[in-house]
Amino acid sequence: MTNPVHFSLAGRRALVTGANTGLGQAIAIALAAAGADIVGAGRSAMAETETAVTALGRRFLAVTADLARMEAIEPLVEAASTEAGPIDILVNNAGIIRRADALDFTEADWDAVMNVNLKAVFFLSQAVARRMVAERRRGRIINIASMLSFQGGIRIPSYTASKSGLAGLTRLLACEWAARGINVNAIAPGYFVTNNTAALRADPERNAQILARIPAGKWGEPSELGGAAVFLASDAASYVHGAVLPVDGGWLAR
Ligand code: NAP
Repeated sequence: MTNPVHFSLAGRRALVTGANTGLGQAIAIALAAAGADIVGAGRSAMAETETAVTALGRRFLAVTADLARMEAIEPLVEAASTEAGPIDILVNNAGIIRRADALDFTEADWDAVMNVNLKAVFFLSQAVARRMVAERRRGRIINIASMLSFQGGIRIPSYTASKSGLAGLTRLLACEWAARGINVNAIAPGYFVTNNTAALRADPERNAQILARIPAGKWGEPSELGGAAVFLASDAASYVHGAVLPVDGGWLAR
């Protein structure tokens, strides 16, 4: 009898946005360790990720793209597909956060966050899915959501709106594309040690408040997120559609 659960990603190609650092880098490395070749997309150099991925024996292609600009999306997918081959797995990881009281929050901070965290995710997913559908290939899309997909938070109105919207968008795309062989799911990280959370960790009061609420009693390390991405990208998750999977040290269970 063959093993009914398959986690290998051998022969697959994954496009990971924001793969130069933080959670995106950790996800790229985890997917590569499971056998996938990686296309890293983003604004910054990806030498560190490239070194880690190639050390695992996988191919790595970096494509420069500023996801705040709509014009970047189609050339990104075209370059990735042409140079690396058809994309099997898309990880929408790139994201930004802006902090200010809701009473003072600016339109610029609203638009900047919504453009990268939500608009780019939708149109990049559309560009990748159009190719999967046209070529009758199965695919996986994994969106990186947040605890703010479930909760309100404070002083991050556009971030909360974008990540709550992303949970809804994940469900909508799952409903539309499941029958086309594309699994769309999300991972909702709790509080992880990355640039994104540097301001929170540097504020002793907020740091203590957050740690006190995490049943696991510590901030997550980026490497602790990769397994969820491998699962959702693999055949083991073939019947998983529209899920938002928390990886949060128990934060939501509290
Ligand atoms: P990070 O270290 O700040 O990384 C963010 C990534 O997004 C970087 O690679 C960044 O590239 C990229 N990016 C930002 N704007 C971009 C743009 N316009 N075009 C292309 N790439 C862009 O943060 P992180 O914590 O790893 O965050 C990754 C994802 O996880 C985000 O969606 C974030 O909201 C989410 N998340 C994080 C946590 C956490 O605790 N850390 C919790 C929940 C959700 P540059 O380096 O060039 O800026």
